[in-house]
Amino acid sequence: MGENWALGRLGAYANIWEPRLSAQTTTLDAQSSAISLIPTASEMEARPPTGLDRRRWIKMEVVSVLEINDDVVGIQVSVPGGGKVELPVTSHIMIRGRDPQTSKNVVRSFTPIIPDQVECPGIMYLVIKCYADGRMSRYIRTLREGGEIEIKGPVRSLKYFKGKYQRIVLIGGGSGITPLWQVAEAIIKDPEDETRICLIYQNRFEKDILMRSELDEMAAQHPKKIRVLYMLSKPPEGWPGGKGRLDRAVLQSQLPPAELPGSVIMICGPPGMIDSLAGPMDEETRVRDGGLLHQMGFSGEQIHVFE
Ligand SMILES: Cc1cc2nc3c(=O)[nH]c(=O)nc-3n(C[C@H](O)[C@H](O)[C@H](O)COP(=O)(O)OP(=O)(O)OC[C@H]3O[C@@H](n4cnc5c(N)ncnc54)[C@H](O)[C@@H]3O)c2cc1C
Repeated sequence: MGENWALGRLGAYANIWEPRLSAQTTTLDAQSSAISLIPTASEMEARPPTGLDRRRWIKMEVVSVLEINDDVVGIQVSVPGGGKVELPVTSHIMIRGRDPQTSKNVVRSFTPIIPDQVECPGIMYLVIKCYADGRMSRYIRTLREGGEIEIKGPVRSLKYFKGKYQRIVLIGGGSGITPLWQVAEAIIKDPEDETRICLIYQNRFEKDILMRSELDEMAAQHPKKIRVLYMLSKPPEGWPGGKGRLDRAVLQSQLPPAELPGSVIMICGPPGMIDSLAGPMDEETRVRDGGLLHQMGFSGEQIHVFE
């Protein structure tokens, strides 16, 4: 079953999955499993020192806290060392904080973003969505300019390199968009990286869509490389994007066929969405199985969950 069949099936969106002009690695190659998930010294050396440490928590100064909207804050953190804070693609940092409601420590992952227009050495930029019932969210709400925050990292759960995949499907929910944005941005910025991207971003309301102008601009400027589908479970009247939840029918209309080599699906979002797509995690083996994507024929190797 070849690419042509896929094109027929994918209809209007087929241009993204068209056969590529140059050959790239088409399978999840054997070397990838042997590759260290920790950014290598040379990868980190290629960038100015970040002052981050993946083994221990470092206290850093909160330089500013900006209310982006009702439930999203932009936080600038001063990172010792003074270099531009740019993490290797697919890596993130961890924040440790104390939930003011339970007084218990909570640790969560966050992906710093690199705003295009500002280049302030030694500053890490975080965009954080705060959930009313969220333990880390409640801690984030307590942060004030001049205060401290504990950060560890970078951490990486998957190694990405140009040519590893032909097609990447990024499925995000709520605040899970930032790691997916990081992957998309790295591919878009590299003119030699011909990977095609389909980003499906699920939210409840239109106002919940994070980084929308950046995503729209990316899709408008690189229509052959990326397309974006916003799904809303509570869409406004006349909403042109996807409506409802990510079910089998939506996935079938958007994803390349599971048998097509060189495809991977990366997911980051709320636990319910991850369980439904990638299946619940077996506590012993730490492997997810039995989700919608498995039922559609995708193997565990083709599904990567940021968590
Ligand atoms: C690799 C990685 C990078 C991330 N980067 C960022 C980032 O840059 N900015 C950011 O804001 N978040 C990011 N997240 C999500 C973040 O780690 C937390 O999951 C999120 O802040 C909620 O934590 P909490 O303790 O406040 O909520 P919890 O106490 O864990 O959950 C509270 C409620 O929020 C819901 N919820 C939790 N996560 C989500 C979600 N993603 N979408 C919708 N509902 C959710 C839960 O279902 C629950 O109802 C990232 C996650 C990963 C795995």
